[in-house]
This record gives sequence, structure tokens and C-alpha cells, in this order.
Amino acid sequence: MKIICIGRNYSDHIKELSNTKPTNPVVFLKPDSSIIAKNQNFIIPSFSNEIHHEVELVVKINKVGKHIDESFSNKYYDEIGLGIDFTARDIQNNLKEKGHPWEKSKAFDNSCLVGEFMIKEELEDQLNIEFSLKKNNDIVQSGSSSQMLWKIDELISYVSQYFTLKIGDLIFTGTPAGVSKVISGDLLEGYINSNKMFSLKVK
Ligand code: ZN
Repeated sequence: MKIICIGRNYSDHIKELSNTKPTNPVVFLKPDSSIIAKNQNFIIPSFSNEIHHEVELVVKINKVGKHIDESFSNKYYDEIGLGIDFTARDIQNNLKEKGHPWEKSKAFDNSCLVGEFMIKEELEDQLNIEFSLKKNNDIVQSGSSSQMLWKIDELISYVSQYFTLKIGDLIFTGTPAGVSKVISGDLLEGYINSNKMFSLKVK
């Protein structure tokens, strides 16, 4: 399976990193080796001094598809979950400056937390799914799918023009503002509405 990630999908997060608003979704991939095994901690890698959390809604693909028309996108997923796209911001800034690919900063081992999923019908309004991240019991990130520049159905259609979507593929849909550095000892907890979707310790 593959993990397709969307960058710069919330304008408040674009501002906080002084990025410009893209004309098309920014897309990058993580390998399946980036996924944190169930009930394991996040271990800060030795090559970075600035690992940021990015909490994101995650869409699980349930059907093979390519060139999906936006009006059919909702047939390609039943479940929506929550995860973290861990980012080595120091490495990423360096790569961005040089115009190099982002993989070393985004696709490293343990850079992908996949939390629990909810059946999409359990979410009353998919265009207004509220989610948040608590760090040590304080809410540090909160957002709603209503704030996405490109909505879930648009993203599925867009990425499927480039990549055949397969059963079990995940789409990380971008992060709202509030990204910050994690340090050893932090406890990260993610919520969709009031449902707890994950709990993760940083080591
Ligand atoms: Zn992200």
C-alpha cells in the first residue's frame, strides 16, 4: 500500500510556514515502512532537531481506481480516520532551499501515525469534520474539513489522475495551523469530534 500526502491544504498553515498558496494540491508520498507499529511510541530520529507534528484527517481507499471523476470519489472510501504526518522541519527547510525532494524529511521510519478510523456515515457532515490534537493535555491544533482548500472528493479525483489508487491506500489530507516541535516525554492525543482516535508517546 502507499500513503499519499497533501501539503498546503489549509490557508492558516500556509501562513504560519510563510509558504505560498499553490494553484494545485501539493502531493508527496510516504512508504509503508514509515508507519508506526500499533501501540509503539514515536522515537525522535537522531538526524533531526526539529520534528513537528502535523495532525491530519486520513481517508482509507476501499476500491481500485484511476482517473476518478470527482462526482464518483465518495464511492472509493468508507472510512475516515486521523493520523500524524511527522515532519523533520529542519531537514525539510534545507531540502526546500535546494529545491530537492522532501522524502528525507517526510518519509523516514516512524514518520506516519495512523490512528483509528470511523465509518464515514458516523460522521454527520463530511464537509465539516472537526478534529484536534492535544499535546500534554493542551489543544495545539484544531481544524475542520470545511477549511480544506481542496475537499476530500477533489483530492481523490486529483491524485487518481497520477496514481492508481488501491485498496488500503491512505490519503493524508493536510494539516491546519499549530504545528510545533515534539520533545521526548510529550503525549499526543488526537480527536475527531469528541472521539479519541489515537494516543502516542514521544520518546
Ligand atoms: Zn502534512
